[in-house]
Amino acid sequence: MQELLERKKGLHRKVLIVDDEFIEREMLGAMLSDLYEVVYAENGALALDMIRQSKLTLSLVILDLHMPKLDGYSLLKLMRSDSELRRIPVIVLTSEKEAEVKSLQLGAADFITKPYDAPDVIRARVSRSIELAEDSIIIHETKRDSLTGLFNKEFFLEYGKRLDNQNDNMPMDAIVLDINRFHIVNELYGREYGDLILKRIGGFIHELVRRTGGLACRSGSNSFGIYIPHTAELLDELPQYTAKLDELTGDHKISVRMGIYSDDGSAADMEQRFDCARLACRKLRNSYATCYDLYNAELHSKELHSERLMTDMDKALDERQFKVYFQPKYNIRGDKPTLTSAEALVRWAHPEFGMVSPGEFISLFENNGLIHKLDRYVWNEAAAQIKRWKDKYGVYIPVSVNVSRVDIFDPQLGDTLCDITKENGLNPGNLLLEITESAYTDDSAQIVEKVSSLRELGFKIEMDDFGCGYSSLNMLTSLPIDALKLDMKFIRNITSNRKDYELVKIMTEIARLIEVPVIAEGVETGEQMELLKAIDCDVIQGYYFSKPVPAEEFEKLIEAKIKEGNYAYC
Ligand code: C2E
Ligand code: MG
Ligand code: MG
Repeated sequence: MQELLERKKGLHRKVLIVDDEFIEREMLGAMLSDLYEVVYAENGALALDMIRQSKLTLSLVILDLHMPKLDGYSLLKLMRSDSELRRIPVIVLTSEKEAEVKSLQLGAADFITKPYDAPDVIRARVSRSIELAEDSIIIHETKRDSLTGLFNKEFFLEYGKRLDNQNDNMPMDAIVLDINRFHIVNELYGREYGDLILKRIGGFIHELVRRTGGLACRSGSNSFGIYIPHTAELLDELPQYTAKLDELTGDHKISVRMGIYSDDGSAADMEQRFDCARLACRKLRNSYATCYDLYNAELHSKELHSERLMTDMDKALDERQFKVYFQPKYNIRGDKPTLTSAEALVRWAHPEFGMVSPGEFISLFENNGLIHKLDRYVWNEAAAQIKRWKDKYGVYIPVSVNVSRVDIFDPQLGDTLCDITKENGLNPGNLLLEITESAYTDDSAQIVEKVSSLRELGFKIEMDDFGCGYSSLNMLTSLPIDALKLDMKFIRNITSNRKDYELVKIMTEIARLIEVPVIAEGVETGEQMELLKAIDCDVIQGYYFSKPVPAEEFEKLIEAKIKEGNYAYC
């Protein structure tokens, strides 16, 4: 490119005159040699050799059509079909009208008729042909990536949008293809190898868009964009593409990822389509194998929703938008179920989304660490409520709070919980801690140690969601726990599914074995309760008695119990 620009500034250019007539060659040469470096060939075959040898420096070929060995038409055809020679403009020398048309059709830049016009006219034609060819090379090179020959990103977008307009917004699929950890490929195997991989992928993409009638670009150092007319077959073809790409990237553990937007008729424009494809591609960024994923609008809006919740969390804590609800637990061992404790469950009264359930935000906050703040808030609220009820009714109603698996790794956990109970005038035993069974299987040794130290401080531990965490029986006997809370998915079908019923029975026996009470949650019907009672379940929590309710509503249950004269809280 630089070389071209310099040549344009008036540095001499090389012109090849091909004619079997000595006189003709000399005449033309005389007209041009003060402006150009002129070289000569007396037949087509010789000319082809010279053109091949100086393909990078030759600015123009002036070609006679009738020559021995290889005639002008054949030479012209050969040049047009060779990607390296195609850029060299050719002016043909003719004396017949039909020859002019034919040579222009074959790709000649211009023609000069014999006998020759005035030298000025010829010089003007030569200079204009050279200039046009050079301009088109400059345009070609600025719109294309030099390594892969694909469009560059800017031209790609501009051209794609123009095509969309011209084609009445025909449905189009967008693919973003990235090479995984490309900088490492360069570092480990060298830039040259990196370039080779890029060229191979470029070749694959060229072939793809040639077949589909789309267009493609290299949009970044390791990134490509492919824009092709929508077809339902694309999804079926993707496995072939990944196999082919694996073949092209060799056995150096190089892999690519593809994010795909498959047109769903939602009238997205080109940039929106690529935004979606990029999102799908970004999700695969941790993959090691060549893979692809499709953009999914529903998933995307869920992700946006999650982002929004994370952004809003701090403000929500400040504004006390989180509400702690209480769900009663009933002891069913006696004749009549008696209220024994409550579980504190958080809800988010979001100003825009209404009441948001913890299922939507707890795991989000666990992933980004915000859960510590939220749980402290909930524990505080629960402790303060126990204190208020103690002041109002004279009894401590134990409340269990959920302790996230993430909290367990907080070295301050014990201190925080002690501070909370102390500040609210409670004993650690008033606050029950629910820890999900699966947390124990994450890093059992560390968790067992942590939970043991909490028990030593006086806190009671309930193992939540028991039955889902795959604790080994062996491990269970050494676990520091005070109650087993069966996962509600077993309770759901206990009356209709024999296997679930048997499982619940076995889990109850395990609890007996390790000498802790069993709590069944998610109990919705009297039938479920009777079955659980029959297999010696101790405590029940579920909609059968009450949904989680605000503290004021929970007070009705306390008052009912007081009326019955039963204060025996466990
Ligand atoms: P979990 O601790 O196992 O809580 C029991 C869940 O079952 C609660 O859902 C409760 O509303 C629901 N539930 C109770 N009885 C029934 C019933 O009869 N039928 C049905 N279908 N569901 C019932 P919720 O409140 O949506 O909480 C979901 C999960 O979110 C909780 O499961 C717990 O793991 C977590 N969570 C709730 N609050 C907190 C919190 O403050 N901190 C932490 N770290 N996690 C919390
Ligand atoms: Mg719980
Ligand atoms: Mg549970």
